[in-house]
Amino acid sequence: MSFFSRLFGRKPTPAPPAPPPPAAPAPPAADGSIVVDGRSYCPFAALIAPAFPGKVEDRSKFRPPANEADVDLKTTYGAYVNLGGRNVLIVIDKAAVLPRSKEWDFIHSAAKALAAAYPALDAQAKAALGVLNAVIFAKSPKRSFASVAGGWFFYDTDEFPNATPAFAASNIVHDANHVWLHHNHKPHTGSDAEIVCWQLQVSNRTALGLQPYEVTYLQGLIGNPDTSKKRMEENP
Ligand SMILES: [Zn+2]
Repeated sequence: MSFFSRLFGRKPTPAPPAPPPPAAPAPPAADGSIVVDGRSYCPFAALIAPAFPGKVEDRSKFRPPANEADVDLKTTYGAYVNLGGRNVLIVIDKAAVLPRSKEWDFIHSAAKALAAAYPALDAQAKAALGVLNAVIFAKSPKRSFASVAGGWFFYDTDEFPNATPAFAASNIVHDANHVWLHHNHKPHTGSDAEIVCWQLQVSNRTALGLQPYEVTYLQGLIGNPDTSKKRMEENP
């Protein structure tokens, strides 16, 4: 009993009841697939299995927050990658990528590279991936784009021809960090935010398995963010 409750004869305010724990996620099915919001996602490794079990889902109602991106997703394939015990969803726009195409295999390779790199990533990279909900592979955004409020990250499949799976995995870390910056009330757009995110890729180059030329490229962006921004605007 506190001094004031003795003085005024009041009972101490009881602590509010603890909120109920979140519902436990449904365990994976026998084939490893999980259901999130009523939609099915297979383990990323199943993307290249001889009998791809992924379902085509109607996602006409699946949209990012207004004004964040103009992405028209009708039907998608769903997969997921487990990163440190947490599932990050992989959503593939059927209009952009079909099973067994080169791009399809690349998505698998990028997810595999990210999963393999994860244990050796630094604390910030893991924190960034810890607030990422989904990577959406689509054509519409015309470049990689982080939907910071929803924790979605759009990856433009047209950017694939010039990338290695390791570099794609590092881009996922980069954009996850934009989400993390937003969640932590730090500037998440502009040159300073880009430099922080590029630097995170460079800091994790060994874990991610980046090639020396890829590191040099990122260091060039860090050294001259305005030029790189201009270049990106001119050549979407
Ligand atoms: Zn960025």
